[in-house]
Amino acid sequence: MSTKHVYFFGGGTADGDGKMKELLGGKGANLAEMSKIGIPVPPGFTITTEVCAAYYDQGKKIPNAAVPEIEAALKKVEAAFGKTFGEPADPLLVSVRSGAALSMPGMMNTILNLGLTDASAEGLAKKTGNPRFAYDSYRRLIDMFGSTAMGVEHELFEHEIHTLKHEKKVKLDTDLTTDDLKELVKRYKAVYKKAVGDDFPQDPRTQLMLSINAVFNSWNGNKAIQYRRIERITGLKGTAVNVQAMVFGNMGDSSGTGVAFTRDPNTGENVFYGDYLINAQGEDVVAGIRTPEPIAKLDSEMPKVYAQLMGIRQALEKHYTEMQDIEFTVQDGTLYMLQTRSGKRTGTAAVRIAVEMAKDGMIDETTAVMRVNPDSLNHLLQPQLDPKAKVEVVAQGIAASPGGASGIVLLSAEAVVAHAEKHPKDAIILVRKETSPEDVAGMDKAKGILTSTGGKASHAAVVARGWGKPCVVGCDAVRIDEAAQTVSIAGHVVKAGDFLTINGTTGDVMIGKVPTIDPTMTGDFGTLMTWADKSRKLKIRTNADTPADAAKAREFGAEGIGLCRTEHMFFTGADKAEKEARIASIREVILAETADARAAGLAKVLVFQKKDFIGLFAAMDGYPVTIRLLDPPLHEFLPKDDNPKGQEDAARDLGVSVERVRARNDELHEFNPMMGFRGCRLPIVYPEIGDMQVRAIIEAVIEVKRQGKSVLPEIMIPLIGTADELTILKKRAIVVAEDTMAKAGVKVEYQVGTMIELPRAALMAGPIAEEAEFFSFGTNDLTQMTFGVSRDDMNGFRAAYLKEKIWAVDPFESIDVAGVGQLIDLAIQKGRASRQAKHGQHLKVGICGEHGGDPESVFFFHKVGMDYVSCSPFRVPIARLAAAQAALGQKAEGNK
Ligand code: PEP
Ligand code: MG
Repeated sequence: MSTKHVYFFGGGTADGDGKMKELLGGKGANLAEMSKIGIPVPPGFTITTEVCAAYYDQGKKIPNAAVPEIEAALKKVEAAFGKTFGEPADPLLVSVRSGAALSMPGMMNTILNLGLTDASAEGLAKKTGNPRFAYDSYRRLIDMFGSTAMGVEHELFEHEIHTLKHEKKVKLDTDLTTDDLKELVKRYKAVYKKAVGDDFPQDPRTQLMLSINAVFNSWNGNKAIQYRRIERITGLKGTAVNVQAMVFGNMGDSSGTGVAFTRDPNTGENVFYGDYLINAQGEDVVAGIRTPEPIAKLDSEMPKVYAQLMGIRQALEKHYTEMQDIEFTVQDGTLYMLQTRSGKRTGTAAVRIAVEMAKDGMIDETTAVMRVNPDSLNHLLQPQLDPKAKVEVVAQGIAASPGGASGIVLLSAEAVVAHAEKHPKDAIILVRKETSPEDVAGMDKAKGILTSTGGKASHAAVVARGWGKPCVVGCDAVRIDEAAQTVSIAGHVVKAGDFLTINGTTGDVMIGKVPTIDPTMTGDFGTLMTWADKSRKLKIRTNADTPADAAKAREFGAEGIGLCRTEHMFFTGADKAEKEARIASIREVILAETADARAAGLAKVLVFQKKDFIGLFAAMDGYPVTIRLLDPPLHEFLPKDDNPKGQEDAARDLGVSVERVRARNDELHEFNPMMGFRGCRLPIVYPEIGDMQVRAIIEAVIEVKRQGKSVLPEIMIPLIGTADELTILKKRAIVVAEDTMAKAGVKVEYQVGTMIELPRAALMAGPIAEEAEFFSFGTNDLTQMTFGVSRDDMNGFRAAYLKEKIWAVDPFESIDVAGVGQLIDLAIQKGRASRQAKHGQHLKVGICGEHGGDPESVFFFHKVGMDYVSCSPFRVPIARLAAAQAALGQKAEGNK
């Protein structure tokens, strides 16, 4: 821990700077940096994140050494601002805010107006000649301090203000007079005393120290912990605390407050974007209680301030070469910047801003590539509402986060969470008056969010944008009746559970469902991808089982197929009749009682498989295609006993008795199918199944070659645990392939390789690689078999494992580098060395489990030297960008 605990900023100087985010938090570092570059910020100081860590180490106590530093920094603030803390006649008031190294908006505590007491409230009233403002500030302090530092329920204060407004027959808080506010202060103090057992502290230093504690405590509050889990934020020391001279936006009509982005965070357009409120404090803008004014209007209301703000906008972008999210306050005509930080944005905006900044020469191409979070591309890959669909727009709100979403309406975050647990596939639109940090778990599970109040910087808008979820806010035609569980929208009544559609790109709201269309990769998105491709080393393939998926993946830049799961082909078909014929063909094989009968069934299966392979090969002209031999246990293709109708239909279609279907089901039943009769074990016992598949593959290649297209088929054998399994199956595959080519009189290239998805296969990679021409890691099974955790049976403990941090992330979503990663690394090294020694060849290595589309995992696959990753078509651009960042990141590290 460093010996300095407290860093001063203000008046054009600062102890710290913008690079010290880890120590000072994002907010503190930026305040220091702004002060250094001459942006007007109110003076203050930052207590470091290390003090937060020490606070917890010492059983929630601020370390002694920090206390005199806080006192000394406070003196400097007093000198810089020309006011004294605790001075009754003209008090210095301060705010106390959190600020971690990574932004966690609204997740931790803030307390404003600290330093007000009975005496200084009166002093402030006299000094400003604005007693209404003084007592409004005082009552806000009692509420905020009481609820955040002392645990008094905020609702108790809310109740008092509602009661008073009712008594005074007024609607708005601003309608309350000075005397009303004095009365409110009295009532708030009574609430405080009843709840805390003590009077509201009249010593400002006591207020200050308790507030600092409160901010540190909020670091480990439920909201903050939940947010860090969803955002996968780990490894931070804690939050810093920023104590800063208060400036007031609520001192009358020449004051105000606002939040803005230096560019549009939805679209990325280079326009000033934000909201402000006259005569208000900061939280009024973000809380969504009053609907604020668009920033452009400030030009007519306060032209001088607006011009200064535009200058600062430019200065900040130039200094940081990044889009900024700023907060400002105007006190009696004087502008103060309260915060600047890199602005959260949609994926669409991230791409546009990065590309435009690079084209403008503000940053270079590789910086642009590094600027976009690969996962945020999801936003550009979201379905949009079909522009050709006939829709009736019943209301319009503010377009807060683009994309279209249809889903069932639910009216609370808790209802969303409960519904999603039972029906994870249902799309849900969360409809609320406004959202608050308590709602994040429900917002996470919702497909889209609609609120009746709030502006572009409201909680709902900021969070939805960060997550790439469609969101419409401030739709005042929406009236929610929680008791009746209905929403009325411009005269239409929608019940909870009914369908609703929102368009976050336009702000439109529609009753019912609207069809969506897939996105395309054009414009800035395409440009960024070509820049990314210049840097990456990994090839990106796709997992695809149909020509349509393969074609989509090609559009997204896939360079081949890394996994075709041949079993999926039995559940598809051009029409109902073909679908039925496909599943019937494999059932005929399974139910056959003689070798001849099985051969007859296989001949039918071959026709379908060959047709599918031709489609895939044609779509991937010029690229490699990995076809995996049948993997699941055979009983997966038979209707189970809990589906008697299915069993009867199957028996009828195949001309066998229903008893025969049931008996075969019983024979094939397994207690642990994932470790049962599947993968390479099938063709070991039934070689004719493997033969048929190899024949279908080679015949399809020959056919495609005749069409003038080229393809490199890779025949992949799943679930190998011993080299012998591969030796037997490879030998057989070669015999069949040679025979097929001889019969056709055509020679084609092909390779035979294996999946590495059992820990034993990873350990025995040396001997296996003597046979295998390629390895493809099946990280779904490898994770499952290494952890001994079934990927389909985690419901009982998954949440607990994440909560207890036994798992930092679900190992099926992001590769477990420490454990499974070791097996992968070892297998690559052993496999490559052995292939080189035995055949003088480079062993081609890829991965085709779900991790292939996860950016963190892609970084690891790059690091261990894989040749390619394969992922679902819609993850292909994400993997391309992640692969480029992995390569650039490694280069940057190498330069250090
Ligand atoms: C795997 O195990 O990672 C894999 C790709 O195969 P499947 O998911 O089909 O078992
Ligand atoms: Mg597998």
